[in-house]
Amino acid sequence: MNSDLAWKHLRGMTPLSLCDWPGRPCCVVFLGGCNLRCPTCHNASLAWDMESQPLLPQARLRSFLASRARWLSGVTVSGGEPTTVPGIGMILHEIAASGLPVKLDTNGMLPEVAEALLAEGLVEVFSVDVKGPPALYPELSGGAVSELDARRNLSRIFALAENRPGAFNFRTTLVPRLSQTDLETVRGMLPAGFTLATQDYQPPRRPHALADTEARRTAGNLVQ
Ligand code: SF4
Repeated sequence: MNSDLAWKHLRGMTPLSLCDWPGRPCCVVFLGGCNLRCPTCHNASLAWDMESQPLLPQARLRSFLASRARWLSGVTVSGGEPTTVPGIGMILHEIAASGLPVKLDTNGMLPEVAEALLAEGLVEVFSVDVKGPPALYPELSGGAVSELDARRNLSRIFALAENRPGAFNFRTTLVPRLSQTDLETVRGMLPAGFTLATQDYQPPRRPHALADTEARRTAGNLVQ
């Protein structure tokens, strides 16, 4: 694997967040690229046109972690969709060298990657964004995921969560298309013992919203 390829996806960082990983002061690392085309995406430029976003050099991340790791309790890796990054393990190994654990935000549609990262011990917690009931995935994902694939991928993620309950949490963004019934459907799919967090939907500020690492979402608005 060409390590340069992975590092080309490193497109931003928030040095300190008190709400992306509840209970843990963390930095947030943003990786460009995504396998979905959600019409409600708040980070569309980062997700679909990462070249439009400034590259964060590997050396900058390394020096940041070396100097700030003792003030942090973890690193949130977000996107875009981090599991689409070829060779993401290289970036996660770099973070692991700082001694900080990783929470990884994912849409869950590449469960085989999540499974591999979990097995390698490179991610402590996956925060899985369940878009809605499987039947709505074609619409919610901009045509990127069929209902059948959504069912398969979510089933695989839920099976992983059953085996490692401490390594997963699930949330749904309250996009206008979702009804209370839809949320109940999602809740009913989760493995026993899991609750669904919801987060308010923030409309893109313009049709092709710029990546906004400050206001991309108010992560503190998680509601159990
Ligand atoms: S999965 Fe997330 S980053 Fe990807 S298109 Fe959907 S909202 Fe945007």
